[in-house]
Amino acid sequence: MDYIFRGLGRNQKVRIFGIDAGESISSICKKHETLPLTTIAFARFLLAGAIIGSLEKNGVGVTLQINSDGPIKSLFMQATSDGFVRGYVSNPHADLELKDGEYKIENVVGQNGILSVTKVNNEGMDFTSDVILAKSDISQDIAYYFFTSEQIPTIIDLQVHLDDNGNVSSAKGYLIQLITGYDEEDVTFLENLKLENITDLEGNIKAMFEDFVKLEELEIKEFCDCSRNRFEEGLSTLGDADLKELANEESIEVVCEFCKNKYTFTSDDLNNIIENRK
Ligand SMILES: [Zn+2]
Repeated sequence: MDYIFRGLGRNQKVRIFGIDAGESISSICKKHETLPLTTIAFARFLLAGAIIGSLEKNGVGVTLQINSDGPIKSLFMQATSDGFVRGYVSNPHADLELKDGEYKIENVVGQNGILSVTKVNNEGMDFTSDVILAKSDISQDIAYYFFTSEQIPTIIDLQVHLDDNGNVSSAKGYLIQLITGYDEEDVTFLENLKLENITDLEGNIKAMFEDFVKLEELEIKEFCDCSRNRFEEGLSTLGDADLKELANEESIEVVCEFCKNKYTFTSDDLNNIIENRK
């Protein structure tokens, strides 16, 4: 089961999130047929978004988006406080040669870009914070977002591994933030934390924070709320001329960009949309 947990450490001055979402993220990446380097970037992005979603309350969702000059072009994801996650990538087939035997995801993400995080504020309105990509490795971009937009010193480590077929075999990470009442010493402690290869998520955290206390755990699940009705509503926003042109075909197929479900609309279906709105 994929899950995220939240806890406290360092005399409750630090909040810590650990996530293991390999199953959902592997499934999402497979549906999008991402090539290896894009898989790693997309998987890290989904992990980060799932953590940020879990910071919200009462089923509220967050949207994360990266638009950049890299081959990947853009990444988009939505997550809710209930642990639901979905997303897509503009160019799932962006991939580059291994450089010096290393994956350089910065090269597929692109050096110049914007990370946008949209949340719902206390009045129930959407508000978006835009920050430039700090390192284009997703992890440090998210840390930079927290520091500039929310003034929260943050360490985030997102670790994605692929199997021999290029599929996600594990996707884990943690986010560590200083909360109220911290001092310079705590900031230095955070800056000098040694980020190990995650083997046992909770064990790794306990090695960094001996007084770590786990408070809550939440299941992470892949989701999509698309439906035939929604696509029909979308089609009905087209003008008569455009719909009639589509209706010249025997049928058209629309594909959900998130879950890749396919919906077929026949010529009759399309003509009915025109008729029904008269
Ligand atoms: Zn869908």
